[in-house]
Amino acid sequence: MSTTKASAPLQHYFAERALLPSGWASNVRLSVQQGRFTHVQPDSTLVESDTLLDGPVLPTIGNLHSHAFQRIMAGAAEVSLNPNDSFWSWRDLMYKVVQKLSPEDAQVIATQLYIDMLKAGYSQVAEFHYLHHAPGGQAYSQVEEMALQLMQAAQNSGIGLTLLPVLYSYAGFGGQTPSAGQARFINSADEYLALHQVSSEALSQLNKRDTNHQHKHQMGICFHSLRAVTQPQIDTVLSQLDSALPIHIHIAEQQKEVNDCKTWSGQRPVQWLNDNIGLDDRWCLVHATHLDQKEITAIANSQAVVGLCPTTEANLGDGIFPGVDFSAQNGRWGIGSDSHVSLSLVEELRTLEYSQRFRDQQRNRLHNAGQNHVGDHLFTQALAGGNQACGVELGLAPGHRADFMQLDPEHPFMAASAPQDLLNRWLFACNENLIKDVFVCGQQVIKDFHHPLEESSRRAFIQVIKKVMYD
Ligand code: ZN
Repeated sequence: MSTTKASAPLQHYFAERALLPSGWASNVRLSVQQGRFTHVQPDSTLVESDTLLDGPVLPTIGNLHSHAFQRIMAGAAEVSLNPNDSFWSWRDLMYKVVQKLSPEDAQVIATQLYIDMLKAGYSQVAEFHYLHHAPGGQAYSQVEEMALQLMQAAQNSGIGLTLLPVLYSYAGFGGQTPSAGQARFINSADEYLALHQVSSEALSQLNKRDTNHQHKHQMGICFHSLRAVTQPQIDTVLSQLDSALPIHIHIAEQQKEVNDCKTWSGQRPVQWLNDNIGLDDRWCLVHATHLDQKEITAIANSQAVVGLCPTTEANLGDGIFPGVDFSAQNGRWGIGSDSHVSLSLVEELRTLEYSQRFRDQQRNRLHNAGQNHVGDHLFTQALAGGNQACGVELGLAPGHRADFMQLDPEHPFMAASAPQDLLNRWLFACNENLIKDVFVCGQQVIKDFHHPLEESSRRAFIQVIKKVMYD
């Protein structure tokens, strides 16, 4: 290892404007070796051999919630079928699509998705992976077959993967028998632990092959929801697996789920989880849309991160997250693109802030005492929450992975704005994609808005859409 390190080339980038953990800085020299920043020096002088970045340079973000296969359905469920269309009727369509997907299809969809994520400024993705088995529910000869497809897609694209194999056993609270539509998802706790083990081994092989950055891909633990698992299962899994891994769960996305949980246990879902399992900073509570004041305080105090998916939550009619109350208690949150109706960090953050404005009939809702620029607040919260939930450290600081993006220096707002206005201009006034270049572990994956595999990936994706959705 030490000889490799000594011989690894040192690369230098010179950013005229860069967002550091301390805020915007000028003339920042970023030195990269073996996929990590070795030095991040503001107020530097440009050296001739440096790569000049004259557009705003920002950290990339961890996308904390993805179901890759759902990308193929995006936009195909906007058809009124009955007066009460909801999350639950959308889920019926999703189950039909699931029956048609082969492992190869899943890789094609995920490769295209991850390329689009990189173009959107996400360089790590937490894949909430529950599509485990063959159609009908039988296990593949390698039980981790579908996870291997996601790993290959991550390799194809260059994105970092946080793989969250999902335990999904039941159809409803109290261990209800799963439906035929759920057959591809179902494992017992023991089957889950075996799947987790082999997936983890495969992921660490992938990391080892990548000598430059051996911790790019991560593992996590995942329970689909309180509907899909029982308390003994949660206890068993948490007692058997590495206690440092992040833990993800869907929770309180729908009012119906809250009502069903109360009928089953007498408690609301977050209240039940906090009282019976216990929350801490390992947990990522995905959605957590429907919270009472006690639950807001419990999550904030636990330092768990809430996984907000604003465009999916809007699309499914989930409800409005109590972001103002949660932020007032320094609650932590990050962003996931979930069902992938949007692959735009801009749209996610804008939707989140605007949802609060619609509800409150007021402007500038998400900020804090130290940060009254809404765009800066949204971006830095999403960065920190994404890091925590994905188990990575992204950000322009020595020792961190050298992941960063450059926004288009020629866009008038990027060319002319003072640093303190750059994020507000980008997030609230630009619809075109401004993300020109993206680097992951010091390697450029998006160059001048393009990915090297985008043409072949696009063609393969077209064929899979036609086959799965329209044959
Ligand atoms: Zn989800």
